Amino acid sequence: MKIAKTITELKTGLEELGRDKTIGFVPTMGYLHDGHLSLINKAQGQNDVTVVSIFVNPTQFAPGEDLDAYPRDFDRDSQLAEAAGTDLLFFPDPAEIYPAGASTFVEVEGEITRKLCGQSRPTHFKGVTTVVNILFNLIQPTRAYFGQKDAQQVAVIKKMVRDLHLPVQIAVCPIVREADGLALSSRNVFLSPEQRSEALVLSQSLAAAKALYESGERSVKVLKDQLVSQINTMPLAIIDYADILDFETLADIETITAPALAAVAVRFEKARLLDNIILD
Ligand code: AMP
Repeated sequence: MKIAKTITELKTGLEELGRDKTIGFVPTMGYLHDGHLSLINKAQGQNDVTVVSIFVNPTQFAPGEDLDAYPRDFDRDSQLAEAAGTDLLFFPDPAEIYPAGASTFVEVEGEITRKLCGQSRPTHFKGVTTVVNILFNLIQPTRAYFGQKDAQQVAVIKKMVRDLHLPVQIAVCPIVREADGLALSSRNVFLSPEQRSEALVLSQSLAAAKALYESGERSVKVLKDQLVSQINTMPLAIIDYADILDFETLADIETITAPALAAVAVRFEKARLLDNIILD
């Protein structure tokens, strides 16, 4: 596996791998777990070459968020990435991606970025779409792989790709979970044993809402009440949001008549955890 820290090294690495090859690209912020590895495996199976980036992107963190505390372990990550079949690992410094004076951003406007995570993190998706664009420009992947775990990120990136006619296919991979149901996340490392046990309420409340939906319930209010009341039984959990929206557009709905996304964000002190389920 080649490791590139600079854009020059990245370009050389891509040239050496062959410009006529199909490239599967997996952008990450590192501290890799089986969720990331599922994306790398998928990319590896569908493309000639697999490129992974590890970049804790400063522009998607607001002041006071966990940019500095975000877990990092490059040595472990590079071993895991290599074992999963990565051909080229891009691990740039922020100054490489955002040279002094850089002031250009890519922003998807509208409800899709204002809802859900956009409420408590109003500048987050602007940072995400900007860095993903920069990485797409540098790597020019055939396909890029994202996890359904970050459902709103998937919706926003798909919209950006459509709106800007970007020449890349977006592949979405299912949520990878611990045996007990907790969605894997680099931020799970922040959880105390007690918080870890209470955090099961995310997947459990979504499963309960899905069971209600499958028994015939179509009222968003009733399903949302189920999510909120179940999460609120956990003393350490603070709900950031618990919402049910149209799956494609993330528009508000009152009754489910087309695939819907039930999504929750819950804070446990230092860790803000996300999970979701599709009601289809
Ligand atoms: P991150 O490093 O958290 O920015 O995530 C990088 C990519 O991995 C994103 O596309 C995430 O949606 C995806 N990802 C993170 N956690 C999981 C998971 N538990 N299952 C599947 N994909 C995931």
